[in-house]
Amino acid sequence: MSVPTRWAAAAGGRAPLAAAQGHCAASEAVPVPVDLHLHTAHSDGRLAPAVVVEAAVARGLKTIAVVDHDVVSGLEEARAAGERLGVEVIAGVELTARWRGRTCHILGYGFDPATPRLHKTLAHGRAAAEAAVAAALDALRARGYDLSSADLARYHARYPTPTTLLLALVQRRLLRSRADLLAILPLLRASAQGMPAAEAIGLMHAAGGAAVLAHPGRRARGVALDRAAVAALAAAGLDGVEVVHPSHDGAQRAAFGDLADALGLVATGGSDWHGRPRDPLPGSLGVDGTRFARLRARIEQRRAAVS
Ligand SMILES: [Zn+2]
Ligand SMILES: [Zn+2]
Repeated sequence: MSVPTRWAAAAGGRAPLAAAQGHCAASEAVPVPVDLHLHTAHSDGRLAPAVVVEAAVARGLKTIAVVDHDVVSGLEEARAAGERLGVEVIAGVELTARWRGRTCHILGYGFDPATPRLHKTLAHGRAAAEAAVAAALDALRARGYDLSSADLARYHARYPTPTTLLLALVQRRLLRSRADLLAILPLLRASAQGMPAAEAIGLMHAAGGAAVLAHPGRRARGVALDRAAVAALAAAGLDGVEVVHPSHDGAQRAAFGDLADALGLVATGGSDWHGRPRDPLPGSLGVDGTRFARLRARIEQRRAAVS
């Protein structure tokens, strides 16, 4: 299916890594000037925040948001690098949340990273996630799997997750059969954490930021979020929907773009760059200045409401 014209500028897709190495002069035109979805080594990205900002500058981006998973610790370094290099860095975070029994991600933009309630909630969430993984590890050991917390340390930067456990099991060749996997999956699922989506939205608003539903079309356990889910979250105060994302095809971009318009939500987008060799590069996906202006206006409303 062809991509409707209004999303064509944002449909850059995967660019070869070579484009970022060597000849990504600032004059090279990126498909979009604003990339609102970049990760750093403070969560599961490969690169330090300052290096991510340098990459964005080299790609000619004007505005970016660093949105690490459930941490805001990389924002100060990113902000300082942005100031030094002349690119606007919006404070961001990607919160792990739950919606009707499934995991979803809520992006926060433009909040005050120093908000005490935000720090307290994130720290509490990390502690709960660590405790859940420790419990799953104990249960695995009770079943005879020879795995220690030291084995997990190789597979995570900040704190272990169910994915960390699975990676360690696979790498240590402890998963021998499909039956093994089926026995273990419920343990991993039980350890998945995250606050209710409405709580994540409220947390963002309390910190003076806008809340955006990340990649609703990306399948989790085979299911994407549908229109009814987005509408229900809009009723809970959601500000926007991530329309442009590597997991969305042209039809999904058009559908979620229309849905955002119909619900009065801001449409956002980004590359979800983690600094890995095959990732879509910064600025290969994102939004134009007009779309970003709407997000900025929404952030200003949220900020005014708490100050
Ligand atoms: Zn995500
Ligand atoms: Zn992400």
